[in-house]
Amino acid sequence: MRIVLAGAGHAHIAALRHFGKTRPRAEIILINDGPYAWYTGTLPALIRRDIFAPQARLDVADLATRCGARFIDARFMRHCEQSKAIQVFLHNHEPINCDRLSLSLGGEKHEGGIKPIPEFLVRLKRLDEIATPKIAIIGAGAAGVEMSLALRIRLPAASIFLQPSESGILPSAPLAAQNFARAKLRAANITICNALPDSPDETIHAYTPEPALTIRPTLQLTTSERIFASGDCAKFLRPLPRSGAMAVRQGRILAHNLTSPALKIFQPPSATLAIVSLNATHALAWYGKFSLHSRLLMRLKTWLDQHWLSR
Ligand SMILES: Cc1cc2nc3c(=O)[nH]c(=O)nc-3n(C[C@H](O)[C@H](O)[C@H](O)COP(=O)(O)OP(=O)(O)OC[C@H]3O[C@@H](n4cnc5c(N)ncnc54)[C@H](O)[C@@H]3O)c2cc1C
Repeated sequence: MRIVLAGAGHAHIAALRHFGKTRPRAEIILINDGPYAWYTGTLPALIRRDIFAPQARLDVADLATRCGARFIDARFMRHCEQSKAIQVFLHNHEPINCDRLSLSLGGEKHEGGIKPIPEFLVRLKRLDEIATPKIAIIGAGAAGVEMSLALRIRLPAASIFLQPSESGILPSAPLAAQNFARAKLRAANITICNALPDSPDETIHAYTPEPALTIRPTLQLTTSERIFASGDCAKFLRPLPRSGAMAVRQGRILAHNLTSPALKIFQPPSATLAIVSLNATHALAWYGKFSLHSRLLMRLKTWLDQHWLSR
């Protein structure tokens, strides 16, 4: 059996690590548009210049080889499901056939988005060259808040405008965490506004668009028995937080379901721990109704991030 994993999203990284231990009797192929999976968890630290690029990405070409899989550096374009095999079409590479296909490609890319991260880093370098850049950030979830605070540290002379959606700042966090984040943003001289300023030097869309692929609890597409999807590109029965942590949990079920006829169900947890870095030393975290901010939380976040990247 040949299994193609398209995109080195978190769920595929978790599944590959599982395959590395279990060595299933299947040919596994990982396709990614480059040898690295850039990790958003460490992006704020990279923006603040607390770390360098190699500490913010995972060498997935090497990971695939270590886990007994073949790596293809190519862009996934589309697939075509036929009665015998699934045909996978790639950019600048001949098509490949497989028996099972899994998609973990991240959220849909849009202009001004944070991903692909290498392209975002180029935009960031351009801002470094402007004496007093004007930056507009759309979306004040965990990503928008982290990005605003990290950019303030990197670009002290910048004017930074943050536009929350109708649901406000950190909509999934308890009220105490929302109020704390708002105070932190104000103290960092970040303007929270309903309308963005005219002609900013950079507009950053810090949100993930609604996923397009609808999946079953088994992570199979609703339209196919043999095609799976997970992470930010997959729409579950009920809305899930768009987080790497959630995608990693899906990865464990995915590894099983791709290689076994008896399928397991993905049961999302009712609450997950969210940690938002405020600067190099402090983080804000919440779990359900509880929230906390401290130095220790930042140490925990750094440890969790490094643990994910170094395995
Ligand atoms: C600033 C910021 C901070 C965040 N911090 C956290 C955090 O601390 N913890 C947390 O849990 N979540 C965090 N998130 C959310 C997290 O980034 C996403 O929810 C998470 O990355 C899930 O994405 P994914 O695994 O589905 O795909 P991704 O991580 O986006 O990976 C997709 C992979 O597929 C590749 N790819 C994409 N398209 C193609 C294609 N056509 N062909 C081949 N390869 C392709 C990409 O290069 C990439 O390697 C943060 C997000 C942002 C923006």
